[in-house]
Amino acid sequence: MSSTGTPFRSSGSFDPGATLRLLASRGRAERLLHVHEVPARAAERAEWPDWVDPAVYAAFASAGIGSLWRHQREAADLAHAGRHVVMATGTASGKSLGYLAPVLTDLVEGAGAATGRGATALYLSPTKALAADQLARIQSLAIPGLRAATYDGDTPQEERRWIREHAQLVLTNPDLVHHSLLPQHQRWAPFLRALRYVVIDECHVYRGVFGSHLSALLRRLRRVAARYGSQPTFVLASATVRDPAAHAERLIGLPVHAVERDGSPREAMTFGLWEPGELPGSAPAGGGTADGGTVSGGREDTSGEVEDTSGETPVRRSATSEAADLLADLVAGGVQAVAFARSRAGVEALAASTRRSLAEVAPELEGAVAAYRGGYLPEERRALERSLRDGTIVGLAATNALELGIDISGLDAVLLAGWPGTRASLWQQAGRAGRSGTRSLALFVAADDPLDTYLVHHPEALFGRSVEATVMDPDNPHVLAPHLAAAAAELPLTEADLPLFGAHARELVDALVARRILRRRPGGWYWARTDRATDHVSLRGSGEVVGIVERRTGRVLGTIDESSAHSQVHTGAVHVHQGETYVVTELDLETSTASVVRGDPGWSTYAQSVSAFDIVGTERSFRWGLVEVCFGPVRVHTQVTSFLRRLPSGEIIGTHPLDLPRRTLSTKAVWWTMPVDALARAGVAEVDIPGAAHAAEHAAIGMLPLVATSDRWDIGGVSTAEHPDTGLPTILIYDGHPGGAGFAEHAFDAFDTWLSAPCSAIASCGCERGCPACVQSPKCGNGNEPLDKAGAVALLSMVLAAAPPRPEAGPPSTVAGGAPARSRG
Ligand SMILES: [Zn+2]
Ligand SMILES: [Zn+2]
Repeated sequence: MSSTGTPFRSSGSFDPGATLRLLASRGRAERLLHVHEVPARAAERAEWPDWVDPAVYAAFASAGIGSLWRHQREAADLAHAGRHVVMATGTASGKSLGYLAPVLTDLVEGAGAATGRGATALYLSPTKALAADQLARIQSLAIPGLRAATYDGDTPQEERRWIREHAQLVLTNPDLVHHSLLPQHQRWAPFLRALRYVVIDECHVYRGVFGSHLSALLRRLRRVAARYGSQPTFVLASATVRDPAAHAERLIGLPVHAVERDGSPREAMTFGLWEPGELPGSAPAGGGTADGGTVSGGREDTSGEVEDTSGETPVRRSATSEAADLLADLVAGGVQAVAFARSRAGVEALAASTRRSLAEVAPELEGAVAAYRGGYLPEERRALERSLRDGTIVGLAATNALELGIDISGLDAVLLAGWPGTRASLWQQAGRAGRSGTRSLALFVAADDPLDTYLVHHPEALFGRSVEATVMDPDNPHVLAPHLAAAAAELPLTEADLPLFGAHARELVDALVARRILRRRPGGWYWARTDRATDHVSLRGSGEVVGIVERRTGRVLGTIDESSAHSQVHTGAVHVHQGETYVVTELDLETSTASVVRGDPGWSTYAQSVSAFDIVGTERSFRWGLVEVCFGPVRVHTQVTSFLRRLPSGEIIGTHPLDLPRRTLSTKAVWWTMPVDALARAGVAEVDIPGAAHAAEHAAIGMLPLVATSDRWDIGGVSTAEHPDTGLPTILIYDGHPGGAGFAEHAFDAFDTWLSAPCSAIASCGCERGCPACVQSPKCGNGNEPLDKAGAVALLSMVLAAAPPRPEAGPPSTVAGGAPARSRG
């Protein structure tokens, strides 16, 4: 731990390489596994276009923006010409200027129309905070006569009316468009009639099921706008993602031009990969008896951080504790740094632990460390920014939230405690550091799980590789059907409308008629019920939701998908919600309510379940010798049967039966089969197949984020030594949402890339019989039994050896280098 208070930063100059060497001294050299130098990028400037309104230009010029970066100009020109465009450039590359220039120009010029609103624009962001920040930024430009306003759940009724009738620019979120704007489109008629632009910010967030919802919502918006005679131009902004044009086109259903070449300058960065030290007493034999919780002087305080309380015997210190030590060292050395943690509880733990370390070596700096969890009031955020600027705050612990809402540019170093979910997020967060003219430092500290471990040992999977694909399926019938019903409630659906909603829209509409949700009349399909169509669908979940309600106050804390409720909020479960710990006193399936009381009993709970699956059909398949790989619809049956209580040490203190019904999930899956004798030849005896297949399944799930932006809660797996539908040992990985979300299909397409990562990850893990860094899983429904680590390596090697030599590999290997991901609130 920190000691000397060596000044890393002397007389204003910061040397990231030297800092890294110092951090890795004092017996920690073996923890710094790799150092990567990211070169600087030169600026490419462009002039302001002639078409920009003089008032808009004057406002930006007086804000000090005398010229543009090349990508801003390119996107602005395209949007101004009415072309749909997506900007996918780095953090802090000024994407908003790319859309503000054309949007504000049209709004200002439209103000001269008889109605006072010749043009309007809608700005959509995934969070309220981001919309509020954008508004503040636009208002600071003080463009004469421009009327912009946020419109969200907190907007008072009288203000809503003013906004509908007068605002030229409305900043809102998809949920409001779904629940308010579209169902009440008549009230928005003048706004919709003049709708010239729709801006979709942070569009990489719309992936998986959320992406399917947004795609359906935007089709509804396009249809209603068209009824008022508008065909708005869509401008999307995204973190760097693979093939942003394809993602944007799936979202809006129209051809999109991508602007990807970043013209903003970037200082050079030194990027380190760090693996925390081993816990004393837990030789890398794994499965030992290390009492993870209290070692290293009681500093292992990670209670509530989901990722760190898997209950498995940890081998290494948590990323949170390790990052706290490093942050303390940096602060003591005078280096301003931010450490990102994966959860709000992790942020508190990280800040507290950093302060404790500093109390020993530099007590005067204890107060120079702050925690920032988001959700602060604007004045609190501004105060924090001031403290960072004037140096009262030197170290900051923050959640790796999408949008911090505070400006932390100018810091020297960024620590990432645990994988932030995607390479795109990694670069976004790393890019937070850097003063102009100085190199910056970024350090990724691995958590004790398979993906993090793999990444710090395989720098080639992080650097010099494009970011991951953003996966979603606009045709998911479970998502699309309720949106079609909502569309019919907005305006009767006609035959001519159906192509907008994809190839299967007609079947879905017919099914809705059969269920008496829609009625067919000569003028089209009509909503046939008396309630509100939009109340039947939540954009943030899939299907039914269970409310989490505080028993004492009746306050609804949040909701959870019904699909996760049995395993996460069963009676007796210890549930962490937004960093707070609760105990579920009752899960009532009749009323879809989980009643909870606040408090941490000191143990965590793990649902145990039995699973089986039926293969409904095979849509696509290929053969590698004796191995057959398939993709198609399946039904997964799961019954949560009991739960375990575990102390932080891993000790199990009880097993408790549960009486919950079996659930069936209709979804999409990728699966593969292997003959028993082929496995035997590869060294997996028949009795060892269940453990080998189970361990391979866990590792395959853990590595799926390398090829698609999923997280481990988005997908599930089942393995069996003999499946009734195939008659063979079968491993199946499925999308955890009804109707699928695109992850399993992407895994099928990238099959060889996907499976080679778990194979090498398990083989290179130093443990003897399996540990959380290789084959154990925190969400295993079988208590991680049986698991056969050596068998899994043999099984996966056998499958990979059966692959035909590249390049004519079986599946269309579109994913040459997928990417990692996880992350969910
Ligand atoms: Zn291991
Ligand atoms: Zn399992």
